[in-house]
Amino acid sequence: MRKLDSLPSPLADAAVESVETERAATEFSVEALTHVLDGGAAATAERRAAWRAFAADPVLNDGLERFTMPLKEERALSTAKLFRLADMLSAARAEAGEGEAGEAELVRLRRNLMRALEVFDPSVAIRAFVQHGLWIGTLKNQGTPEQQAKWLPGAEDYRIIGCFAMTELAHSSFLRGAETRAELDVDTDEFVISSPSLTATKWWIGQAGQIATHAIVFANTFLPNSAAGIQLFVVPLRDAATGKPLPGITIGDIGPKFGRHGNDNGFISFDAVRVPRFNMLARWASVESDGSFIPPPNPALAYGSTILERVSSVGSAADYASQALTIAIRFGVARRQGSGHVGSSPSAPEPQIMDYQSHICGLIPHLATCYAVFCTTARVEAGYNAMVADLQAGNTLGFLAPLADMHATSCGLKTVCTWWASDALEACRRSMGGTDITRTRQTARYLVKIYSQVHGIGHSGSRRVPPGDSVAYLLDASLPRFDSLGALVAEAHSLDALLVGIQQVAVAKIGAAATRLHSAMIVDGMSKGEAWNACLMDLVDAVTAHCTAYMMESFTAFVAAREAEGVDDALIQVLTTLARLFALRYASEHTTWFIEANMPAKSSDAISSLRRAVESVASSLRPSVIGLTDAFDYPDELLRAPLGVKSGDVYREYYRAASTNALNEPSGVAPYWRTLVSPRLLQSKL
Ligand SMILES: Cc1cc2nc3c(=O)[nH]c(=O)nc-3n(C[C@H](O)[C@H](O)[C@H](O)COP(=O)(O)OP(=O)(O)OC[C@H]3O[C@@H](n4cnc5c(N)ncnc54)[C@H](O)[C@@H]3O)c2cc1C
Repeated sequence: MRKLDSLPSPLADAAVESVETERAATEFSVEALTHVLDGGAAATAERRAAWRAFAADPVLNDGLERFTMPLKEERALSTAKLFRLADMLSAARAEAGEGEAGEAELVRLRRNLMRALEVFDPSVAIRAFVQHGLWIGTLKNQGTPEQQAKWLPGAEDYRIIGCFAMTELAHSSFLRGAETRAELDVDTDEFVISSPSLTATKWWIGQAGQIATHAIVFANTFLPNSAAGIQLFVVPLRDAATGKPLPGITIGDIGPKFGRHGNDNGFISFDAVRVPRFNMLARWASVESDGSFIPPPNPALAYGSTILERVSSVGSAADYASQALTIAIRFGVARRQGSGHVGSSPSAPEPQIMDYQSHICGLIPHLATCYAVFCTTARVEAGYNAMVADLQAGNTLGFLAPLADMHATSCGLKTVCTWWASDALEACRRSMGGTDITRTRQTARYLVKIYSQVHGIGHSGSRRVPPGDSVAYLLDASLPRFDSLGALVAEAHSLDALLVGIQQVAVAKIGAAATRLHSAMIVDGMSKGEAWNACLMDLVDAVTAHCTAYMMESFTAFVAAREAEGVDDALIQVLTTLARLFALRYASEHTTWFIEANMPAKSSDAISSLRRAVESVASSLRPSVIGLTDAFDYPDELLRAPLGVKSGDVYREYYRAASTNALNEPSGVAPYWRTLVSPRLLQSKL
């Protein structure tokens, strides 16, 4: 094959030069900022050492291509990496020695290696998190010293592989609804763990699919004379030598996912599995041999083990978004595209895409949020680590006092930060091409042209374009019709009124963009390209407003045409309600656009009544949702979605799909168990 990368390529050279030039021109010390983010120069040095060790390790940094790797192979590979990580941590533990300082060093090493894994192989990162965060973390927070002595050493060496079995097929966030039962048998001093139904099956459980030997099982607990609510039990799952499920355990892999293919999320069902009473994690709540229950000093303690997962999610949000932003921004600086020469003459190179206003406003605010999330992570991690340190030092009060606040804050932060991260990832993805904001340029040019013709702004000499059907409203002399948001909301029962309101917004947005564009050229003396870029966000808004007006007009006309054809009244009514909801949601999400379009909210009542209108119209459609989606008429054979099956038999279909997927070997044992897992489990203590 011809070696194309040795051909002279001025554009490739220019890409390098752009990045280098901008790096050299940075006006602050990047190194100092890295130290600030890491929490000091020493922390940076420590992290870099861990990342170097990671990069130099042939098992962890295998150089293999994930996207073309068969799933079964990836599972085996991620298991090997997990064990390699364990070896690195064991070696570090031996070196660090006993005591608080050694433990803190180990925690930092684990965090640094986990961050490297989040960049390099998120599947292994999540497996390691299940082992260290969920399994070991829960044992430490919820187990008595005797329980910790029994399971922790094996867990830390990976002679025991744990999983965290909270979620069930039919329940998770509403944990009290869990169907898994633990019933005390006072005669044998055992708990009997049962999954009484299909929907009680533990589901999504990381590491359960193929390798976990033990689970921490959340179960509704029943004592001879009382119910003890949700308690946590250590339940052995697989035989270490053979990998076979233990008696009473039905276990398997839930199958392929859209990401983290190396992680074996699985299902577990218990058929009257007996475990000693000792196996109920009893640091806070316990059960005596006669069946009497000693409740926890604070009910929030039950949530202790899930806080770490939420705190880690905040950090992961920053880690994943910062990777995406690094890639998108470097590419944005390196790549040049377009004929609109930003701030330069026509002979100058094409603009860097990072200089487009849509890139500046699309990516840089996410960069700001990313720094906010890094700072937030530092705060919540420090708070959580301090609580746990108190707990481990025997200062129960130090753990309990901030628990409720930490629980509440971490719940919200996990949600808000991960929502943001997925938005940021999407913005980065779009910024790198394929979704083509440039296409909106054609629409914007047309809209500005027509508006300018109608209103006599800009250069009168340019060629006139006859206004087409889609922009007829730009010539409508009756606009603007509404003089306040309240006036529009008062007529929100009428599709025509909503359409006019939306068109009024489109006229205003197009007008604002066109006026600003002309002013940038005529008053500020910008070139066409410069002016276009300076107004790009306004132009994209104008296109959005116009397209929404077009959609609303189409919807309204469609309903009117069906009505004229004599279509059933009930259908006309439901279509009208959908059209109203489409319009109201747009208005509610773009209230400021309506205000800018001469529809001021004279009081906050208008804004809240718009929101209430969205809620009430959406709720009015609630009884029709099955009918409205059935009308799309997708047969199950085409949809192929167990969770969206027409009959509603979602749990059975999902279970059937999961249990028959190719990852579940007929033997019930992962193909790499004998060579990889059992030697690890059966090794003598490291
Ligand atoms: C990759 C991955 C790994 C996982 N690993 C594990 C694991 O190792 N161990 C484990 O136990 N679990 C695991 N889970 C499961 C995870 O904990 C649950 O998915 C999560 O707790 C949400 O529960 P659910 O899926 O049952 O959704 P539900 O609680 O049923 O919620 C479904 C949707 O309903 C809506 N909803 C539900 N309740 C309300 C409400 N009160 N108010 C408003 N809206 C509501 C929300 O839109 C929500 O998104 C994993 C999940 C994933 C995706």
